[in-house]
Amino acid sequence: MSAPRRGIAFVLSAPSGTGKTTVCKRVLAEDRGISLSVSHTTRSPRLGERDGADYHFVDRAEFERLVAAGAFLEHAEYRGNLYGTTLAAIEAPLEAGRDVLLEIEVQGARQVRRRMPSARFVFLLPPSRRELERRLRARGTESEEVVARRLEIAARELREVFRYDYAVVNDRLDRAVADVLAIVRAERGGAGGSLAERFSPQRVIEAQGGLERLLDAPG
Ligand code: 5GP
Repeated sequence: MSAPRRGIAFVLSAPSGTGKTTVCKRVLAEDRGISLSVSHTTRSPRLGERDGADYHFVDRAEFERLVAAGAFLEHAEYRGNLYGTTLAAIEAPLEAGRDVLLEIEVQGARQVRRRMPSARFVFLLPPSRRELERRLRARGTESEEVVARRLEIAARELREVFRYDYAVVNDRLDRAVADVLAIVRAERGGAGGSLAERFSPQRVIEAQGGLERLLDAPG
């Protein structure tokens, strides 16, 4: 009997305000063959988040102990908190032939690219700078200073898009979910190449009017 196929690790990154968590939840709900890699973080749980399901919530000492023990595939500091993917979070499902979705920011994605070349990288884009700004403000409570800071971080993250295998625009949620699912299924079937052109970051960014349009404040 041949060995079971090893699963594929899909890394999905996006600037805050792009709607990445919603897209990921829908992808996970609609495809039974892929599961979420549950990260460790030192940030406090938000309302409705469950320990062990959304994140493993740990304190800094525990996180640092895990770093020292070599437990992480990747880890990074983001807005003052530590986040990381343990090898334990992904090895068992991959081994069992299940695909895994890593919803992680760009510094961590760089580490995965180095350490796990077989992973596939998807970058989710906001439709425009104006829309990103609107979504960041729509969260409500943030001050202008916080919004400005987040836009600055978003601009820095967006510049990483060309390092990814695929770019998907989250203009309409249904469409973005369908696009990510198409990528997952094509890769799973060994046909990733067939979508490489349609979702190549170069091409998608061009169709969006160039990276500058996503980075610049509306004039
Ligand atoms: P949040 O605090 O809003 O849940 O996440 C903040 C950022 O950290 C998001 O960009 C999210 O994708 C990223 N993130 C979540 N888990 C991990 C992880 O395990 N590693 C890395 N590098 N980033 C993560």
